[in-house]
Amino acid sequence: MKEKVELTGIILGSYPVKDYDKRVVILTKERGKITAFANGARKMNSAYSGITEPFNYGTFFVYEGYDAYRFAGGDIREYFSDVKNDIDGICYGSYLCEILEYLCVEGVGDADILNLLYMSLKALEKKIIPYKLIRRIFELKILSLDGEMMSAFSCVKCGNENVSSFVKLLNGLVCDDCGKIIYERYSLSESAVYTIQYILSSPINKLYSFNVKDDVFSQIDHVVNEYFTEHVDKKFKSLEILSTLA
Ligand SMILES: [Zn+2]
Repeated sequence: MKEKVELTGIILGSYPVKDYDKRVVILTKERGKITAFANGARKMNSAYSGITEPFNYGTFFVYEGYDAYRFAGGDIREYFSDVKNDIDGICYGSYLCEILEYLCVEGVGDADILNLLYMSLKALEKKIIPYKLIRRIFELKILSLDGEMMSAFSCVKCGNENVSSFVKLLNGLVCDDCGKIIYERYSLSESAVYTIQYILSSPINKLYSFNVKDDVFSQIDHVVNEYFTEHVDKKFKSLEILSTLA
């Protein structure tokens, strides 16, 4: 048996295996996404049952095996119970976790991505800004951290810093002059441009510190949706559930 490893992370997903066990996917600071098997975690009174719930943040202990880890307990610092007590909160939180389970790779640690998930769960818990805005902020920021940052600070065509519309085919924003000769563009207000630039440039702990008016949100909603679906070609279960709740 190899030695016990201590990892800091958040549980992205927890799935039933055999009669009593669970497969747990954890996003860790040290080793990126890992998969660990928690034997007996679904038995009544198992010490692992509460620890292995999604959104839990803390220190986890695992034994390294040949092709997977064996779960060996944890010390939970935050359960995000207020997110779990609300069906919309569960759906949005699960959606963020699903995205990371899909995008993150095994073995490569990334403290920024873990911090983004932590701050996003905090924002869902505080309920100060709308869930649908948290979702769009997360989607834009995660692609940027994952190396697919939207080009939003100067025109993709000519470099002019006065950008005013989004062009999906060019993966970014263009200026008025270049926009005039492009058929498929989406015009943005100054506030919407500023909001996109703010999300891309602000540190993670300042991300969820603003709200926007409805007309600005609808522009952000449109642009981020186009950009995200262009880069992430996957249907997420939690989004399907969310659409049935609306
Ligand atoms: Zn231009």
